[in-house]
Amino acid sequence: MKSQQKYQKTFSFELFPPKTAEGMEKLRVSVRELAALQPLYFSVTYGAGGSTRERTFATVDWLRSEGIATTPHLSCVGATRDQVRETLHHYRNQGIQRLVALRGDMPSGMGGPGEFPHANDLVEFIRAETGDHFYIDVAAYPEFHPQAFDAATDLVNFKRKVDAGANEAITQYFYNADAYFYFIESCEKQGIDIPIVPGIMPITNYTQLARFSDACGSEIPRWIRQRLQGYHDDLAGIREFGIEVVTQLCRRLLEQGAPGLHFYTMNQSRAVSRIWSNLGLSHSLHEGHEEAS
Ligand code: FAD
Repeated sequence: MKSQQKYQKTFSFELFPPKTAEGMEKLRVSVRELAALQPLYFSVTYGAGGSTRERTFATVDWLRSEGIATTPHLSCVGATRDQVRETLHHYRNQGIQRLVALRGDMPSGMGGPGEFPHANDLVEFIRAETGDHFYIDVAAYPEFHPQAFDAATDLVNFKRKVDAGANEAITQYFYNADAYFYFIESCEKQGIDIPIVPGIMPITNYTQLARFSDACGSEIPRWIRQRLQGYHDDLAGIREFGIEVVTQLCRRLLEQGAPGLHFYTMNQSRAVSRIWSNLGLSHSLHEGHEEAS
């Protein structure tokens, strides 16, 4: 973990662009509460194949109109060079300085991978088009990407994104801290030296979490799965247990030197705010600000 300890810890929140006016209203409430925690930025996901393009733009516009630091995601699968170029210039003209660059997963029936088969192709293109304008985050997989040929190849492919010019990485969520620590050690051995920030998924709904985890290759350890199943319809019980487990995970990651946390908020503020408070993050961030001023 040595390579990670030298970085200043950063905290960020991920949102998705709502589909409905009601979803947007809920997002506004959540963002108001989460913004009070003073994260470094809010990121906004981008549906693969451009499926959320206008909604991502609208959510980014709204956040910026509120004076909130915003990092759009950009996924490249199925996109043409012209489309990506146009999006990059749109964001640059808006004053956006940071992006999360991803391949994405093509929705079934939407055709081939297009002009960017992998995320390293996108990172390379962003650098070629816009030089060092954007600070680029990419995705990392401590438990490996579900389509990876094998663990070693996945690591080589992760390095391609770093070599193409990524500044930082955010991990897929995981509940086994050792998977992250081991991944960092493997990255160090490959000479990968960028901040790799753990992605944190609060546990609030077992059925939804199990579905996501099966799709993205994140493992829910048996002891957590069994406990969650045991709560049946007791949503409050699931939430309390989830907050306790995820707080412990975050605490361990930060104590061992993780360079911050990126929360998958699912547009909800309650669980993240509780975990944040359990970790004493407002307190420690403010101390940091005072020391810096
Ligand atoms: P890549 O890095 O391209 O990797 C995908 C697979 O291809 C891996 O198995 C890898 O080993 C292999 N590979 C990579 N490069 C090469 C190469 N050059 N040659 C051969 N094989 C290669 N999805 C969205 O649609 N929108 C989002 O906004 C979004 N945000 C995300 C944010 C984070 C932090 C994370 C972790 C994931 C996010 N995703 C998002 C999901 C992501 O798009 C999927 O996990 C997708 O399957 C892979 O994207 P990637 O950028 O990691 O792809």
